Amino acid sequence: MSDSGATRHVVVVGASLAGTRTVQNLRSSGHSGPITLIGAESELPYDRPPLSKDLLRSDWADETVEGFRLLTRAELDALEADVRLGVAATAVDTTARTLTLADGTTIGYDVLVIATGASARPSPWRPASGVVQLRTLDDARAIAGRLALQEPIVVVGGGFIGTEIAAAAVGYGCPVTVVDPVPEPMARLVGPEIAGIITDLHERNGAATRFGVGVVDITGEAGALTVVLADGTELAASTAVVGIGTIPNIDWLAGSGLLLDNGVMTDQYLRALGVADVYAIGDVARWPHPGRGGIRAEHWTNASDQARYVAGAIVHGVSAAYEPSDYVWSDQYDWKIHTVGWRDPAGTSVLVGDLEADGRVAVIHSDENGKACGAVTVNWVRALNQIRRQLMTGGTPDSIVDSLRERAA
Ligand SMILES: Cc1cc2nc3c(=O)[nH]c(=O)nc-3n(C[C@H](O)[C@H](O)[C@H](O)COP(=O)(O)OP(=O)(O)OC[C@H]3O[C@@H](n4cnc5c(N)ncnc54)[C@H](O)[C@@H]3O)c2cc1C
Repeated sequence: MSDSGATRHVVVVGASLAGTRTVQNLRSSGHSGPITLIGAESELPYDRPPLSKDLLRSDWADETVEGFRLLTRAELDALEADVRLGVAATAVDTTARTLTLADGTTIGYDVLVIATGASARPSPWRPASGVVQLRTLDDARAIAGRLALQEPIVVVGGGFIGTEIAAAAVGYGCPVTVVDPVPEPMARLVGPEIAGIITDLHERNGAATRFGVGVVDITGEAGALTVVLADGTELAASTAVVGIGTIPNIDWLAGSGLLLDNGVMTDQYLRALGVADVYAIGDVARWPHPGRGGIRAEHWTNASDQARYVAGAIVHGVSAAYEPSDYVWSDQYDWKIHTVGWRDPAGTSVLVGDLEADGRVAVIHSDENGKACGAVTVNWVRALNQIRRQLMTGGTPDSIVDSLRERAA
């Protein structure tokens, strides 16, 4: 297997963040060979984080969308790639090194980059109408239309996307209830200290929460839904937004010889296991995180970093393993929540600052061996930047906490 070469034909499947950035990085790294970019969506590639933030604000307009394209048509053309939007890849033959597309075309490749991302985990409750989910621009348009009615909304799922939608719905003036079977949604990601105050944040802003009790059914139709909870409560809703996680877009890879298990399994160089010259990146890739084991890291920074890494590997050859920057953000009401690194459930956490008194707070995580491994900040970007630097230079939990306390004083 040859790992380097700037002249081979690279085919990238998935024309969103990971796929588009791969093509851009290939060209900026000096790849002069042919590139083909295949995307199932016919839209000019766009960014997804704004779908649950700026694009769900009550004052959004179609021009708002144009600000969130990943690149302009002119920038796409300048990449001199064979771009095929609006057509999905349906199969890959890793022996013959060919792809089949939904329009019946077959394309050969030297190197294949799989960047097909994920889809919203389908709602198990399917009344005639009124259940919506958010993954694409069209989904956001549909949800914005429902929120504009200012009728009661039930959000099923209290993760980042569900809670951002709840905040948006409050902004439209809708009565909102967020339901999640977990007593403190997001605790796994941000820790119980911050998860608890996020619950308070919703209630302070007027969204009701029903945490610790799951949904068992949704019946009726748009405008007249009944959301039935496990404790027998029935919530009336005009719309139910179901945000219960994602599933990786791997169906099209069945029988390809790739190792598939909740994503395309890769090694630490993001090379797909089981075949040569195939990489997987972004939300679809399940790769060995140095601290957390095999994960799909479904975050913007990861997709963007992996695209840069793989483009470099294709052009210059693989050298060091992929190192994640592990950075995630979420906007909820007027809060900016950031996480860096990760939280080890077997480790400990220290809280610095007082959200009530100062309007900002940070939580520093250590792993089970006492090594600093991550942090969460609320409304405290300077602290976040400082923590990131200290984590990168091997700062101890005590040194990070001390310097934050000095900063806060
Ligand atoms: C509403 C929302 C809000 C978010 N907010 C944040 C945030 O605040 N912070 C953060 O860090 N992350 C956020 N994320 C996550 C972030 O957007 C994703 O991690 C990122 O989009 C992953 O990029 P990707 O290119 O790997 O996958 P995707 O963005 O899922 O793109 C995959 C693309 O591949 C296409 N595709 C699928 N199958 C095929 C096929 N067979 N052939 C061709 N094309 C195919 C899909 O249509 C899609 O266009 C958010 C995500 C959503 C949905």
